[in-house]
Amino acid sequence: MASKENTRIHPETVRMAEYIRAITAAGSVHAVGIEFISPIQCMKRHNSRRCKGKMRITPRADVIEYCCTDCETCGIIANWRGSEWNLSEFASGLTAPGLLTVSVSEDEYKALRKVLLLSPKEEAIIAGAVWTDSHVVITGTEDVFDELAGNVAFEANHSPGTKKQAALDSVCEKIEKVLET
Ligand SMILES: [Zn+2]
Repeated sequence: MASKENTRIHPETVRMAEYIRAITAAGSVHAVGIEFISPIQCMKRHNSRRCKGKMRITPRADVIEYCCTDCETCGIIANWRGSEWNLSEFASGLTAPGLLTVSVSEDEYKALRKVLLLSPKEEAIIAGAVWTDSHVVITGTEDVFDELAGNVAFEANHSPGTKKQAALDSVCEKIEKVLET
């Protein structure tokens, strides 16, 4: 019989699973063969400091390849299509005409990733965000952004007086500005 000690999941294992999950979701909403840099931060530690690099991701037909922009950390995720983190069916196509883009800060993006009540379509545009010029660029249709603004505002209203609320309010303003134009 397994002891309690053996069944406990190490926090590092949970973080690693989250990391692989994020890379899989990001890669799944991008076109096969096209490399992009995701805002997902590298997991590697150098002298107890976490690497500041982001993940350069290339989705392939069967695997997702990833490499850090700053260190030698690289990997391959196999069988991503069969995984529950494959969001490809919810992706609006990141190159379709008429798409909107919203640029947010890294902290705003982190707050956005913690919003719980999101539809798979909203999750897909957040997961597929791209790291450009020290900003996080989110691309999606007007409908998805409209939905997202509502859910982000709802979450912000339920986190009064917190840093999270400030970050989410700012995201909302940015989305609304883009929707108005
Ligand atoms: Zn790294």
